[in-house]
Amino acid sequence: MKPKVAFFDFASCEGCQLAILNCEDILLDILNLVNLVEFREALSEKAPRYDIAFVEGSIHRDEDIERLQNLRSRTTVLVALGACACNGNVQARSNFVAPAVNYEVIYGEEARNRVQVDADHWSLWSHTRVRPLDAVVKVDAYLRGCPVVPAEFLHLVKSVLHGTTPFFPPDAVCVECKKNGNECVLERGETCMGPITWGGCNSICVNNGYVCDGCRGTLPHANIDSHITLMREHNIKDEDIRNRYRLFLGAEPIGRGV
Ligand code: SF4
Ligand code: SF4
Ligand code: SF4
Repeated sequence: MKPKVAFFDFASCEGCQLAILNCEDILLDILNLVNLVEFREALSEKAPRYDIAFVEGSIHRDEDIERLQNLRSRTTVLVALGACACNGNVQARSNFVAPAVNYEVIYGEEARNRVQVDADHWSLWSHTRVRPLDAVVKVDAYLRGCPVVPAEFLHLVKSVLHGTTPFFPPDAVCVECKKNGNECVLERGETCMGPITWGGCNSICVNNGYVCDGCRGTLPHANIDSHITLMREHNIKDEDIRNRYRLFLGAEPIGRGV
């Protein structure tokens, strides 16, 4: 019997699901091997249990926690799909700002006063933290990046179908960046998360003239202190270092570790 596969989303732009839907060349092959039972972007059907659930998005509200725990209880292999699910992503920056301040900055003081009397909406903004999936439930595998890399999605699906553990080499983005012959942006005094970030994206951002923001998350053996020292040695200010860590990782590096 074909394994039942489903896709779900929490707080996200749904770009990772779209990235997978756009893999037309590999998607048809995969669909021959699995039974796609839930995928809000493409199907209206529902199912009671899943062999593999791909879950996109970060967790914000009490109802998100309940829904994720329920999904976990009905799923054999739960995969965190993309940076929102793996590390909290850019929305986790709000963890560093009081919820009421966030709301006021976005919608203005008048809107904030209106929402304060509306308990249903206010609960969204008064919640304590934005979290990745593994802060709430056990996650069996991670597909990193913003958005995910289609080749890694294919590798993970094949591995699960063969009953093997998917392997993603724990090499830093710097390894791919050096292979690609890029000039290091640190030499120009720009922040870069490449030394501590999971590779696998072929250093795509640096190749195209930007820096690595660290969207693929922190390597398990990352030396945060050395990374901070390295950037300081290149005259990068602590404020810029802090902002870069907060951007995708929701992490406070200086003085506290990650
Ligand atoms: S990881 Fe990026 S592309 Fe994927 S859902 Fe989150 S914001 Fe969108
Ligand atoms: S530009 Fe960034 S990713 Fe590339 S070598 Fe320098 S620090 Fe590493
Ligand atoms: S270079 Fe960095 S920011 Fe860009 S995709 Fe790779 S990990 Fe993400």
